[in-house]
Amino acid sequence: MPLYTEQQLTIYNSITGKKEPFESLLEGYVGMYVCGPTVYSNVHLGNVRTFMSFDMIFRYLKHLGYKVRYVRNITDAGHLTDDADEGEDKIAKKARLEKIEPMEVVQQYTVDFHNILNKFNFLPPSIEPTATGHIIEQIELIKKIIVNGYAYEKNGSVYFDVVKFNKDHEYGKLSGRKLEDMIANTRALTSQSEKENPQDFALWKKAEPQHIMRWPSPWGDGFPGWHLECTAMSTKYLGEQFDIHGGGMDLKFPHHECEIAQNEAALGKEPVKYWMHANMLTLNGQKMAKSTGNSINPGEIFTGESKHLTKGFAPSVARFFILQTSYRSIMDFSNDALLASEKGFNRLMEALKIAKSLQTSNKSTFDVAAWKQSCYNAMNDDFNTPILIAHLFDGVKQIHLVKDGKVELTENDLKLLINTMNAFVFDVLGLENGDAFAKADDSKLNGTVELLIKLRKEARENKDFALSDKIRDELIELGIQLKDGREGTTFTVN
Ligand SMILES: [Zn+2]
Repeated sequence: MPLYTEQQLTIYNSITGKKEPFESLLEGYVGMYVCGPTVYSNVHLGNVRTFMSFDMIFRYLKHLGYKVRYVRNITDAGHLTDDADEGEDKIAKKARLEKIEPMEVVQQYTVDFHNILNKFNFLPPSIEPTATGHIIEQIELIKKIIVNGYAYEKNGSVYFDVVKFNKDHEYGKLSGRKLEDMIANTRALTSQSEKENPQDFALWKKAEPQHIMRWPSPWGDGFPGWHLECTAMSTKYLGEQFDIHGGGMDLKFPHHECEIAQNEAALGKEPVKYWMHANMLTLNGQKMAKSTGNSINPGEIFTGESKHLTKGFAPSVARFFILQTSYRSIMDFSNDALLASEKGFNRLMEALKIAKSLQTSNKSTFDVAAWKQSCYNAMNDDFNTPILIAHLFDGVKQIHLVKDGKVELTENDLKLLINTMNAFVFDVLGLENGDAFAKADDSKLNGTVELLIKLRKEARENKDFALSDKIRDELIELGIQLKDGREGTTFTVN
Protein backbone atom coordinates (compact mmCIF):
# COMPACT_ATOMS: atom_id res chain seq x y z
CA MET A 1 0.00 0.00 0.00
CA PRO A 2 1.49 3.35 -0.94
CA LEU A 3 1.94 5.81 1.89
CA TYR A 4 -0.58 8.29 0.47
CA THR A 5 -3.39 5.88 1.30
CA GLU A 6 -2.63 6.23 5.01
CA GLN A 7 -1.33 9.81 5.13
CA GLN A 8 -4.01 12.37 4.28
CA LEU A 9 -2.28 15.35 2.77
CA THR A 10 -4.04 18.73 2.86
CA ILE A 11 -3.10 21.62 0.62
CA TYR A 12 -3.92 25.30 0.95
CA ASN A 13 -5.65 26.06 -2.32
CA SER A 14 -5.11 29.70 -3.32
CA ILE A 15 -8.26 29.78 -5.42
CA THR A 16 -10.60 28.79 -2.56
CA GLY A 17 -8.49 30.28 0.23
CA LYS A 18 -8.88 27.05 2.21
CA LYS A 19 -6.89 24.02 3.20
CA GLU A 20 -8.38 21.08 1.34
CA PRO A 21 -7.76 17.33 1.44
CA PHE A 22 -5.57 16.43 -1.52
CA GLU A 23 -7.19 14.01 -3.95
CA SER A 24 -5.35 13.60 -7.22
CA LEU A 25 -7.38 13.50 -10.43
CA LEU A 26 -5.96 10.11 -11.33
CA GLU A 27 -5.28 7.81 -8.40
CA GLY A 28 -1.59 7.42 -7.72
CA TYR A 29 -0.52 10.10 -10.21
CA VAL A 30 0.11 13.81 -9.73
CA GLY A 31 0.59 16.40 -12.45
CA MET A 32 2.32 19.54 -11.21
CA TYR A 33 3.20 22.64 -13.22
CA VAL A 34 5.39 25.42 -11.83
CA CYS A 35 6.16 28.66 -13.68
CA GLY A 36 9.90 28.69 -14.24
CA PRO A 37 12.35 31.56 -14.62
CA THR A 38 12.66 34.12 -17.40
CA VAL A 39 16.29 33.53 -18.28
CA TYR A 40 17.60 37.05 -18.90
CA SER A 41 19.66 37.46 -15.69
CA ASN A 42 21.12 35.44 -12.81
CA VAL A 43 18.45 33.69 -10.78
CA HIS A 44 17.23 35.73 -7.79
CA LEU A 45 17.27 34.37 -4.27
CA GLY A 46 13.51 34.99 -4.06
CA ASN A 47 13.02 32.73 -7.08
CA VAL A 48 15.32 30.11 -5.58
CA ARG A 49 13.07 30.08 -2.53
CA THR A 50 9.95 29.61 -4.68
CA PHE A 51 11.52 26.75 -6.64
CA MET A 52 12.88 25.21 -3.43
CA SER A 53 9.36 25.17 -1.99
CA PHE A 54 8.13 23.22 -4.99
CA ASP A 55 11.19 20.97 -4.91
CA MET A 56 10.27 20.07 -1.32
CA ILE A 57 6.62 19.56 -2.38
CA PHE A 58 7.74 17.37 -5.31
CA ARG A 59 9.92 15.34 -2.93
CA TYR A 60 7.14 14.83 -0.38
CA LEU A 61 4.61 13.78 -3.03
CA LYS A 62 7.13 11.24 -4.31
CA HIS A 63 7.86 10.13 -0.76
CA LEU A 64 4.13 9.48 -0.28
CA GLY A 65 4.31 7.12 -3.23
CA TYR A 66 2.75 9.24 -5.99
CA LYS A 67 4.10 9.05 -9.51
CA VAL A 68 4.65 12.76 -10.11
CA ARG A 69 5.08 14.45 -13.47
CA TYR A 70 6.61 17.78 -12.56
CA VAL A 71 6.78 20.34 -15.37
CA ARG A 72 8.75 23.54 -14.81
CA ASN A 73 9.17 25.72 -17.87
CA ILE A 74 11.90 28.05 -19.04
CA THR A 75 10.61 31.38 -20.35
CA ASP A 76 12.91 32.24 -23.23
CA ALA A 77 10.61 34.56 -25.23
CA GLY A 78 7.55 36.73 -24.83
CA HIS A 79 8.12 38.16 -21.33
CA LEU A 80 8.08 41.93 -21.81
CA THR A 81 9.71 44.51 -19.57
CA ASP A 82 6.25 45.92 -18.85
CA ASP A 83 3.45 43.61 -17.73
CA ALA A 84 0.90 45.67 -19.66
CA ASP A 85 2.08 44.22 -22.98
CA GLU A 86 4.32 47.18 -23.61
CA GLY A 87 8.08 47.54 -23.66
CA GLU A 88 10.75 45.25 -24.98
CA ASP A 89 11.18 41.50 -24.65
CA LYS A 90 13.43 41.04 -21.58
CA ILE A 91 15.71 38.61 -23.39
CA ALA A 92 15.89 40.65 -26.60
CA LYS A 93 16.77 43.74 -24.57
CA LYS A 94 19.64 41.96 -22.81
CA ALA A 95 20.86 40.60 -26.16
CA ARG A 96 20.79 44.09 -27.66
CA LEU A 97 22.71 45.60 -24.72
CA GLU A 98 25.35 42.85 -24.75
CA LYS A 99 25.46 42.61 -28.56
CA ILE A 100 24.87 38.85 -28.54
CA GLU A 101 22.17 36.53 -29.87
CA PRO A 102 19.03 36.21 -27.73
CA MET A 103 19.65 32.47 -27.54
CA GLU A 104 23.11 33.17 -26.12
CA VAL A 105 21.43 35.10 -23.32
CA VAL A 106 19.03 32.19 -22.81
CA GLN A 107 21.85 29.65 -22.75
CA GLN A 108 24.00 31.62 -20.33
CA TYR A 109 21.28 32.16 -17.74
CA THR A 110 19.73 28.72 -18.11
CA VAL A 111 23.11 27.25 -17.27
CA ASP A 112 23.44 29.62 -14.30
CA PHE A 113 19.96 28.66 -13.12
CA HIS A 114 20.74 24.94 -13.25
CA ASN A 115 24.12 25.40 -11.56
CA ILE A 116 22.61 27.22 -8.61
CA LEU A 117 19.75 24.75 -8.26
CA ASN A 118 22.18 21.81 -8.42
CA LYS A 119 24.23 23.32 -5.60
CA PHE A 120 21.07 23.46 -3.50
CA ASN A 121 20.43 19.79 -4.31
CA PHE A 122 17.22 20.31 -6.31
CA LEU A 123 15.73 17.32 -8.09
CA PRO A 124 15.39 18.03 -11.80
CA PRO A 125 11.76 18.37 -12.95
CA SER A 126 10.32 15.60 -15.15
CA ILE A 127 10.06 17.98 -18.11
CA GLU A 128 11.59 21.43 -18.56
CA PRO A 129 9.97 22.83 -21.72
CA THR A 130 10.75 26.19 -23.30
CA ALA A 131 8.42 28.83 -24.75
CA THR A 132 10.35 28.95 -28.05
CA GLY A 133 10.06 25.18 -28.35
CA HIS A 134 6.24 25.45 -28.28
CA ILE A 135 5.40 28.24 -30.72
CA ILE A 136 3.22 25.90 -32.83
CA GLU A 137 1.18 24.80 -29.79
CA GLN A 138 0.71 28.44 -28.79
CA ILE A 139 -0.50 29.43 -32.27
CA GLU A 140 -2.98 26.54 -32.22
CA LEU A 141 -4.33 27.71 -28.86
CA ILE A 142 -4.81 31.25 -30.15
CA LYS A 143 -6.75 29.90 -33.12
CA LYS A 144 -9.08 28.04 -30.76
CA ILE A 145 -9.62 31.12 -28.60
CA ILE A 146 -10.43 33.21 -31.71
CA VAL A 147 -12.87 30.57 -32.99
CA ASN A 148 -14.56 30.50 -29.58
CA GLY A 149 -14.99 34.26 -29.79
CA TYR A 150 -12.73 35.39 -26.94
CA ALA A 151 -9.91 37.00 -28.93
CA TYR A 152 -9.58 39.50 -31.75
CA GLU A 153 -6.87 40.38 -34.21
CA LYS A 154 -5.64 43.98 -34.68
CA ASN A 155 -2.86 44.90 -37.10
CA GLY A 156 -1.01 41.60 -36.81
CA SER A 157 -1.45 41.23 -33.04
CA VAL A 158 -4.06 39.13 -31.24
CA TYR A 159 -5.63 40.19 -27.93
CA PHE A 160 -7.67 38.28 -25.42
CA ASP A 161 -11.10 39.88 -24.94
CA VAL A 162 -11.41 39.99 -21.16
CA VAL A 163 -14.77 41.80 -21.13
CA LYS A 164 -16.36 39.26 -23.45
CA PHE A 165 -14.83 36.39 -21.48
CA ASN A 166 -16.11 37.78 -18.20
CA LYS A 167 -19.69 37.73 -19.53
CA ASP A 168 -19.59 33.94 -19.80
CA HIS A 169 -16.92 33.12 -17.20
CA GLU A 170 -15.41 34.70 -14.13
CA TYR A 171 -12.23 36.71 -14.73
CA GLY A 172 -10.42 37.47 -11.47
CA LYS A 173 -11.50 34.46 -9.41
CA LEU A 174 -7.96 33.46 -8.47
CA SER A 175 -6.79 36.88 -7.32
CA GLY A 176 -10.18 37.84 -5.89
CA ARG A 177 -10.65 40.79 -8.23
CA LYS A 178 -13.79 41.96 -9.96
CA LEU A 179 -13.54 43.15 -13.52
CA GLU A 180 -15.86 46.11 -12.80
CA ASP A 181 -13.45 47.33 -10.09
CA MET A 182 -10.47 46.82 -12.37
CA ILE A 183 -12.17 48.87 -15.08
CA ALA A 184 -13.06 51.64 -12.62
CA ASN A 185 -9.45 51.81 -11.41
CA THR A 186 -7.59 51.87 -14.71
CA ARG A 187 -6.86 54.78 -16.93
CA ALA A 188 -8.49 54.89 -20.33
CA LEU A 189 -6.49 53.52 -23.22
CA THR A 190 -4.27 55.89 -25.13
CA SER A 191 -5.25 56.55 -28.72
CA GLN A 192 -2.30 54.45 -29.98
CA SER A 193 -3.47 51.36 -28.17
CA GLU A 194 -4.92 48.60 -30.28
CA LYS A 195 -6.74 47.00 -27.35
CA GLU A 196 -10.49 47.34 -27.03
CA ASN A 197 -10.28 47.38 -23.23
CA PRO A 198 -7.32 48.09 -20.94
CA GLN A 199 -7.73 44.65 -19.26
CA ASP A 200 -7.31 42.78 -22.56
CA PHE A 201 -3.94 41.07 -22.87
CA ALA A 202 -1.78 40.02 -25.78
CA LEU A 203 -1.83 36.43 -27.03
CA TRP A 204 0.33 37.30 -30.02
CA LYS A 205 2.30 40.46 -30.69
CA LYS A 206 3.28 41.69 -34.11
CA ALA A 207 7.05 41.97 -34.44
CA GLU A 208 8.24 45.35 -35.56
CA PRO A 209 10.99 45.20 -38.24
CA GLN A 210 13.73 45.73 -35.62
CA HIS A 211 12.42 42.99 -33.30
CA ILE A 212 14.96 40.15 -33.38
CA MET A 213 12.81 37.40 -31.83
CA ARG A 214 10.11 36.57 -34.38
CA TRP A 215 8.17 33.64 -35.77
CA PRO A 216 5.71 33.31 -38.67
CA SER A 217 2.03 32.97 -37.80
CA PRO A 218 -1.37 33.27 -39.52
CA TRP A 219 -1.35 36.94 -38.38
CA GLY A 220 2.13 37.72 -39.73
CA ASP A 221 5.58 37.63 -38.09
CA GLY A 222 5.47 38.05 -34.34
CA PHE A 223 5.97 36.44 -30.96
CA PRO A 224 3.68 34.92 -28.31
CA GLY A 225 2.36 36.80 -25.27
CA TRP A 226 3.92 35.74 -21.97
CA HIS A 227 0.86 34.13 -20.36
CA LEU A 228 0.19 31.85 -23.30
CA GLU A 229 3.22 29.57 -23.04
CA CYS A 230 2.21 28.16 -19.66
CA THR A 231 -1.27 27.26 -20.90
CA ALA A 232 0.20 25.63 -24.02
CA MET A 233 2.84 23.63 -22.16
CA SER A 234 0.78 22.60 -19.13
CA THR A 235 -2.00 21.38 -21.45
CA LYS A 236 0.44 19.54 -23.67
CA TYR A 237 2.26 17.69 -20.91
CA LEU A 238 -0.31 17.43 -18.11
CA GLY A 239 -3.64 17.53 -19.94
CA GLU A 240 -6.54 19.96 -20.02
CA GLN A 241 -6.97 19.49 -16.28
CA PHE A 242 -4.20 18.71 -13.83
CA ASP A 243 -3.60 18.60 -10.09
CA ILE A 244 -1.23 21.33 -8.94
CA HIS A 245 -0.15 24.66 -10.43
CA GLY A 246 2.45 26.60 -8.53
CA GLY A 247 4.49 29.75 -8.72
CA GLY A 248 5.55 32.82 -6.81
CA MET A 249 2.88 34.97 -5.16
CA ASP A 250 3.67 37.79 -7.63
CA LEU A 251 2.44 35.61 -10.51
CA LYS A 252 -1.11 35.28 -9.16
CA PHE A 253 -2.15 38.37 -11.07
CA PRO A 254 -2.12 38.86 -13.95
CA HIS A 255 -0.13 35.80 -15.08
CA HIS A 256 -2.07 32.94 -13.46
CA GLU A 257 -5.41 34.72 -13.83
CA CYS A 258 -4.72 34.97 -17.56
CA GLU A 259 -3.72 31.31 -17.72
CA ILE A 260 -7.10 30.29 -16.29
CA ALA A 261 -8.90 32.57 -18.76
CA GLN A 262 -6.95 31.16 -21.73
CA ASN A 263 -7.67 27.56 -20.72
CA GLU A 264 -11.35 28.18 -20.20
CA ALA A 265 -11.65 30.20 -23.41
CA ALA A 266 -9.83 27.62 -25.53
CA LEU A 267 -10.87 24.35 -23.92
CA GLY A 268 -13.91 25.22 -21.81
CA LYS A 269 -12.40 23.78 -18.64
CA GLU A 270 -10.91 25.11 -15.44
CA PRO A 271 -7.37 23.75 -15.75
CA VAL A 272 -6.11 23.43 -12.19
CA LYS A 273 -7.42 21.63 -9.11
CA TYR A 274 -5.00 23.13 -6.54
CA TRP A 275 -3.30 26.50 -6.99
CA MET A 276 -0.26 26.99 -4.77
CA HIS A 277 1.71 30.19 -4.26
CA ALA A 278 5.03 30.58 -2.47
CA ASN A 279 5.51 33.77 -0.52
CA MET A 280 8.28 36.30 -0.96
CA LEU A 281 11.67 36.65 0.66
CA THR A 282 13.00 39.76 2.36
CA LEU A 283 16.59 40.61 3.31
CA ASN A 284 17.12 42.07 6.79
CA GLY A 285 13.43 42.87 7.01
CA GLN A 286 13.31 44.84 3.77
CA LYS A 287 12.27 44.05 0.26
CA MET A 288 15.22 42.96 -1.84
CA ALA A 289 16.16 45.46 -4.53
CA LYS A 290 19.41 45.83 -6.47
CA SER A 291 18.86 49.58 -6.74
CA THR A 292 19.02 50.10 -2.94
CA GLY A 293 21.87 47.62 -2.39
CA ASN A 294 19.57 45.46 -0.25
CA SER A 295 20.14 42.38 -2.32
CA ILE A 296 22.14 39.19 -2.35
CA ASN A 297 22.83 36.63 -5.09
CA PRO A 298 22.43 32.95 -4.30
CA GLY A 299 26.07 32.31 -5.27
CA GLU A 300 27.28 34.91 -2.73
CA ILE A 301 25.82 32.83 0.10
CA PHE A 302 28.34 30.07 -0.62
CA THR A 303 31.37 32.36 -0.89
CA GLY A 304 30.34 34.91 1.73
CA GLU A 305 31.25 37.69 -0.73
CA SER A 306 28.46 40.03 0.30
CA LYS A 307 28.29 42.99 2.64
CA HIS A 308 25.29 41.29 4.23
CA LEU A 309 27.25 38.20 5.31
CA THR A 310 30.13 37.62 7.72
CA LYS A 311 31.11 34.32 6.09
CA GLY A 312 30.13 31.76 3.45
CA PHE A 313 27.58 29.04 4.16
CA ALA A 314 27.26 25.51 2.83
CA PRO A 315 24.33 25.15 0.39
CA SER A 316 22.60 22.64 2.67
CA VAL A 317 22.76 25.10 5.56
CA ALA A 318 21.08 27.75 3.41
CA ARG A 319 18.53 25.19 2.23
CA PHE A 320 17.82 24.13 5.81
CA PHE A 321 17.45 27.79 6.77
CA ILE A 322 15.00 28.55 3.96
CA LEU A 323 12.86 25.50 4.78
CA GLN A 324 12.61 26.60 8.42
CA THR A 325 9.91 29.02 7.23
CA SER A 326 6.63 27.73 5.80
CA TYR A 327 6.43 28.30 2.04
CA ARG A 328 3.32 30.44 2.54
CA SER A 329 4.95 32.88 4.98
CA ILE A 330 7.25 35.76 4.16
CA MET A 331 10.76 34.65 5.02
CA ASP A 332 13.44 37.03 6.18
CA PHE A 333 17.00 36.32 5.18
CA SER A 334 19.76 37.56 7.48
CA ASN A 335 23.28 36.69 8.54
CA ASP A 336 22.32 36.11 12.18
CA ALA A 337 19.47 33.79 11.27
CA LEU A 338 21.79 31.86 8.93
CA LEU A 339 24.39 31.49 11.70
CA ALA A 340 21.72 30.11 14.03
CA SER A 341 20.56 27.71 11.32
CA GLU A 342 24.10 26.52 10.77
CA LYS A 343 24.32 25.53 14.44
CA GLY A 344 21.00 23.72 14.21
CA PHE A 345 22.00 21.97 11.01
CA ASN A 346 25.25 20.74 12.54
CA ARG A 347 23.41 19.48 15.63
CA LEU A 348 21.06 17.56 13.37
CA MET A 349 23.87 15.95 11.38
CA GLU A 350 25.86 15.15 14.50
CA ALA A 351 22.83 13.41 16.07
CA LEU A 352 22.36 11.29 12.94
CA LYS A 353 25.94 10.14 13.33
CA ILE A 354 25.59 9.42 17.06
CA ALA A 355 22.37 7.47 16.40
CA LYS A 356 24.29 4.82 14.48
CA SER A 357 26.26 3.68 17.53
CA LEU A 358 23.59 3.81 20.25
CA GLN A 359 23.01 0.96 22.69
CA THR A 360 19.57 -0.62 22.49
CA SER A 361 17.41 -2.12 25.26
CA ASN A 362 14.67 -4.68 25.53
CA LYS A 363 12.03 -2.00 26.03
CA SER A 364 11.36 1.54 24.78
CA THR A 365 10.57 4.50 27.01
CA PHE A 366 9.91 6.85 24.08
CA ASP A 367 6.99 6.36 21.67
CA VAL A 368 8.81 6.41 18.32
CA ALA A 369 5.71 5.50 16.27
CA ALA A 370 3.76 8.47 17.68
CA TRP A 371 6.73 10.78 17.05
CA LYS A 372 6.99 9.50 13.47
CA GLN A 373 3.31 10.20 12.87
CA SER A 374 3.73 13.74 14.23
CA CYS A 375 6.41 14.30 11.55
CA TYR A 376 3.91 13.17 8.89
CA ASN A 377 1.15 15.26 10.43
CA ALA A 378 3.31 18.36 10.02
CA MET A 379 3.95 17.66 6.34
CA ASN A 380 0.35 16.60 5.74
CA ASP A 381 -0.69 20.01 7.04
CA ASP A 382 0.12 21.91 3.84
CA PHE A 383 3.83 20.98 3.90
CA ASN A 384 4.55 22.63 7.24
CA THR A 385 8.34 22.28 7.21
CA PRO A 386 9.04 24.43 10.32
CA ILE A 387 6.84 22.14 12.43
CA LEU A 388 8.44 19.08 10.84
CA ILE A 389 11.89 20.46 11.72
CA ALA A 390 10.76 21.03 15.33
CA HIS A 391 9.78 17.34 15.51
CA LEU A 392 13.11 16.33 13.96
CA PHE A 393 14.82 18.21 16.78
CA ASP A 394 12.73 16.26 19.23
CA GLY A 395 14.29 13.21 17.55
CA VAL A 396 17.74 14.79 18.08
CA LYS A 397 16.92 15.27 21.76
CA GLN A 398 15.86 11.63 22.15
CA ILE A 399 19.09 10.44 20.50
CA HIS A 400 21.12 12.35 23.09
CA LEU A 401 18.92 11.03 25.91
CA VAL A 402 19.50 7.46 24.74
CA LYS A 403 23.21 8.16 24.55
CA ASP A 404 23.15 9.48 28.12
CA GLY A 405 21.18 6.44 29.30
CA LYS A 406 18.09 8.51 30.17
CA VAL A 407 15.84 7.03 27.48
CA GLU A 408 15.72 3.44 26.31
CA LEU A 409 14.87 2.17 22.83
CA THR A 410 14.51 -1.31 21.42
CA GLU A 411 16.54 -2.21 18.37
CA ASN A 412 13.42 -1.91 16.17
CA ASP A 413 12.46 1.46 17.59
CA LEU A 414 15.97 2.80 17.13
CA LYS A 415 15.89 1.61 13.52
CA LEU A 416 12.51 3.29 13.02
CA LEU A 417 13.80 6.53 14.55
CA ILE A 418 16.91 6.54 12.33
CA ASN A 419 15.01 5.62 9.15
CA THR A 420 12.38 8.29 9.78
CA MET A 421 15.00 10.94 10.50
CA ASN A 422 16.92 9.98 7.33
CA ALA A 423 13.79 9.96 5.17
CA PHE A 424 12.71 13.44 6.23
CA VAL A 425 16.15 15.04 6.43
CA PHE A 426 17.59 13.71 3.17
CA ASP A 427 14.68 12.65 0.94
CA VAL A 428 11.98 15.16 1.86
CA LEU A 429 13.91 18.26 2.95
CA GLY A 430 16.66 17.42 0.46
CA LEU A 431 19.57 18.21 2.78
CA GLU A 432 22.99 16.71 2.16
CA ASN A 433 25.47 15.77 4.81
CA GLY A 434 28.55 16.40 2.67
CA ASP A 435 28.69 19.72 4.50
CA ALA A 436 28.54 17.90 7.80
CA PHE A 437 31.66 16.01 6.78
CA ALA A 438 33.42 19.28 6.18
CA LYS A 439 32.30 20.33 9.62
CA ALA A 440 33.40 16.99 11.05
CA ASP A 441 36.83 17.59 9.51
CA ASP A 442 36.85 20.87 11.40
CA SER A 443 36.14 19.10 14.64
CA LYS A 444 38.81 16.50 13.83
CA LEU A 445 41.33 19.29 13.30
CA ASN A 446 40.29 20.89 16.59
CA GLY A 447 40.65 17.58 18.39
CA THR A 448 44.06 16.94 16.87
CA VAL A 449 45.42 20.38 17.81
CA GLU A 450 43.98 20.07 21.32
CA LEU A 451 45.82 16.76 21.65
CA LEU A 452 49.10 18.37 20.54
CA ILE A 453 48.56 21.24 23.01
CA LYS A 454 48.15 18.65 25.76
CA LEU A 455 51.31 16.77 24.72
CA ARG A 456 53.24 20.05 24.56
CA LYS A 457 52.06 20.92 28.06
CA GLU A 458 53.22 17.53 29.33
CA ALA A 459 56.59 18.00 27.58
CA ARG A 460 57.03 21.35 29.31
CA GLU A 461 56.08 19.89 32.67
CA ASN A 462 58.79 17.26 32.05
CA LYS A 463 61.13 20.09 31.07
CA ASP A 464 61.45 18.63 27.58
CA PHE A 465 61.61 22.08 25.97
CA ALA A 466 63.08 20.74 22.74
CA LEU A 467 59.90 18.72 22.17
CA SER A 468 57.52 21.49 23.28
CA ASP A 469 59.23 23.99 20.92
CA LYS A 470 59.20 21.45 18.09
CA ILE A 471 55.43 21.02 18.47
CA ARG A 472 54.89 24.81 18.47
CA ASP A 473 57.20 25.49 15.49
CA GLU A 474 55.91 22.71 13.30
CA LEU A 475 52.34 23.80 13.93
CA ILE A 476 53.31 27.33 12.84
CA GLU A 477 54.64 25.87 9.58
CA LEU A 478 51.22 24.28 9.08
CA GLY A 479 49.59 27.67 9.64
CA ILE A 480 48.44 26.97 13.18
CA GLN A 481 49.48 29.52 15.79
CA LEU A 482 49.46 28.61 19.50
CA LYS A 483 48.86 31.33 22.07
CA ASP A 484 49.72 30.77 25.73
CA GLY A 485 47.53 32.66 28.13
CA ARG A 486 46.50 32.58 31.77
CA GLU A 487 43.49 30.39 30.90
CA GLY A 488 45.66 27.90 29.02
CA THR A 489 46.74 27.59 25.41
CA THR A 490 44.48 28.55 22.52
CA PHE A 491 45.14 28.43 18.81
CA THR A 492 44.24 30.14 15.56
CA VAL A 493 44.25 28.63 12.06
CA ASN A 494 45.43 30.87 9.24
ZN1 LIG B 1 3.61 30.62 -16.07
